[in-house]
Amino acid sequence: MRLSHITISGFKSFAKKVTIDVTHNVTGVVGPNGSGKSNVAEAIRFVLGEQSMKSMRGKLGADLIFKGSEKLAPLSRASVTMTIDNKEKVESNMISQDLAPYLAYDSIILSRTIYADGTSDYTLNGAKVRLRDVQELLAFAGIGSSAHTIISQGEADKILLADLKTRKEAIEDALGLRVYHIRLNESERKLERTKIHLREVELLRKEITPHLSHLKRQVEKIESKEKERKNLEELLGAYLKREEVSLNEMKKKLDEVGSVSSLLLIADSIKKELEIESHSVSTLRGTSDGEVNINKEEIKQRIHGLSITRDEITRNFGRLEAEKNFLEREINKLSSDEKVSVSKSALIKTGKDLKFDFENINSAISFGKLSDAKTYVNRGLETSHSFFDVYKNEIDENKIDELKNSLTTISEKIKKEEEEEKILNVEIRNLQDKLNNAEISARVIIENKYEKEKKIILLEGKLREFESTIALRKQEEQEYNIRFERFESLMNEGVLIVGRILLSYREVAISETLSQIKMEELLRAIDKSKFKIEEAGIPNQVEVIEEYKSVNEREEYLKKELDDIKNTEDKLNDLIKDLKNSLETKFESGVKEISDLFTKYFEEVFRGGKASLSIVPIIKTDEEGNEIKETGVDIDVSLPTKKVKEISMFSGGERALVSIALLFAMSSLLPPPFMVLDETDAPLDEANAQKYGAMLARLATKSKLLVITHNRETMNHCEMLYGVTLGAEGCSKLLSINLGEK
Ligand code: ATP
Repeated sequence: MRLSHITISGFKSFAKKVTIDVTHNVTGVVGPNGSGKSNVAEAIRFVLGEQSMKSMRGKLGADLIFKGSEKLAPLSRASVTMTIDNKEKVESNMISQDLAPYLAYDSIILSRTIYADGTSDYTLNGAKVRLRDVQELLAFAGIGSSAHTIISQGEADKILLADLKTRKEAIEDALGLRVYHIRLNESERKLERTKIHLREVELLRKEITPHLSHLKRQVEKIESKEKERKNLEELLGAYLKREEVSLNEMKKKLDEVGSVSSLLLIADSIKKELEIESHSVSTLRGTSDGEVNINKEEIKQRIHGLSITRDEITRNFGRLEAEKNFLEREINKLSSDEKVSVSKSALIKTGKDLKFDFENINSAISFGKLSDAKTYVNRGLETSHSFFDVYKNEIDENKIDELKNSLTTISEKIKKEEEEEKILNVEIRNLQDKLNNAEISARVIIENKYEKEKKIILLEGKLREFESTIALRKQEEQEYNIRFERFESLMNEGVLIVGRILLSYREVAISETLSQIKMEELLRAIDKSKFKIEEAGIPNQVEVIEEYKSVNEREEYLKKELDDIKNTEDKLNDLIKDLKNSLETKFESGVKEISDLFTKYFEEVFRGGKASLSIVPIIKTDEEGNEIKETGVDIDVSLPTKKVKEISMFSGGERALVSIALLFAMSSLLPPPFMVLDETDAPLDEANAQKYGAMLARLATKSKLLVITHNRETMNHCEMLYGVTLGAEGCSKLLSINLGEK
């Protein structure tokens, strides 16, 4: 990269636009005091991004803008443009991606504009850029406003008088190590940002970790619930399928047996039948049976009575027969020789009494009054005895006829008695028949009763059977209903828990285990599963899962982010380490080389003596009291024949020469594209000015030089001269004289 043009507009005394061609090896800027020559050097500092107002001899940004003159109005802004020739392109990985595209241009046009309020704009080829970009580009190009490239008026010995650290920085600039610092700072800034980011991400992760683990636990619960729900679906499916078959079988069986109401109707009809039969049995037991018994006893008693009477009659007949026989004998006796005297009236009376008794006997027997008959029989017998007693005493012979009559009567009576006995016997037979009939009818009744009782027993058995069937039926029906209700309720409940898919239980295949497990166990397993699901109940499941997903995604993102950040951190640490190593190595070797060159130039200028640079440690403490180890560059100068070593004690010319030797040494190693030397030669005498000129010529072979000078010797080395004048308008003007190559 080479400097091509500088265009100044509105900057300090340059109210009007001027362009300085700096393509020549040595370009001189000359002019009277106060014409604005130093303003040119400051304009270059300005466009290179100088931030120190002091180094541009101002206090405010507005001090850099043309303040106006008698003839010209003040301006509101100042701008300086630097055109860099970039035809010889350089590729480097040290340039950031933001700037790399500019390296493709043939001309890089850098411009800075400052406004009255002090703000500045920077542009690169018309595009707005940051100061940092400008600094990076310039560092890359080896152009900088550092101590050795733009030497302001009276500041040539600045490098000599600078502290160790400032000198080190100037040397690093000269060694082109600024870009390393930029990179290093940038990397450290990045590292710092990365660390902050890392902490932020770690904090974020820390923040979401408890929430995430809470959500994870919930999701695990939901997942286990979902697993349990599947298990329940399987269990319920098996239950419904099996239970439905079982219920259908049960229903079929129940239908076959008949409904309880129909069985109850049958039982009722049996009961009614039973009632009727029981009633008829009790009627048989209460009336017929009793009556039959009573009649039988009566008949038996009557037969017994009649038999006694008959027996007595028979016995009396015997007596009457005996008496008849006696009478017959007596009559026969009387009729033969013996006289029998019997009162007629006694015989008549006895006959009447006996007749009366026989009538009574007959009447009593006909009415069945056997005791009466007996009485009359006994009375008849007494009458007969008393007659015979009377007869014994009173009988007389004359009464034989009467005895015969009595005998006739008695014989008749005996006949009649015989007839009566026959009648009695008939009656007894009749009664016997009646008794027989009564017994037959009693037997029939008993048999009938037994039949009915048998029927009752049968009916009762049947009823009991029916009642037990009804009870069983009721129990079965109850069991069926309970099971059916449970079936329906489990199905409804199941649909609510596992969804309508459960309704396809008929199509689902049951595992072998579930098809063999006992129903009670299956139901217990269902209850257990339901309980588990209930236990795992989490409200707003969908939201929880969604939230878990999103928090987990966030966590994964953060984790990845963290990994990336850590990776970046590692890379940055490596880069920083590399940069530091490179910087240190390059710096150490660079200082050595510069020191050697410094020694060489010094000896040339001073024809003897010694000068060298060395890296020295600087121990500092930070705000927290920690020791910071830094390094600086010390300068060791021994003028020939002089013992004084303190540079501050050197003469102005000596200081200028030492400085120039050092600046030239610094610039030789990595020559900057250009250098501005503002009256660096001012303190030099003629002899030394010649030496200065020689070094200038040598330096100009490597870098373009813009020299502001009053020195003729220096002017001799210029190929182009710009004369600066303060014109009538009160602003700086340029006049150029091309002196040709030297
Ligand atoms: P010397 O040879 O004495 O060093 P010089 O040629 O280097 O002088 P400068 O120092 O560049 O001169 O210019 C100083 C001049 O610039 C002064 O005359 C000053 O009034 C003028 N000047 C500085 N700032 C402004 C400004 N903002 N507006 C107008 N003129 C300004």
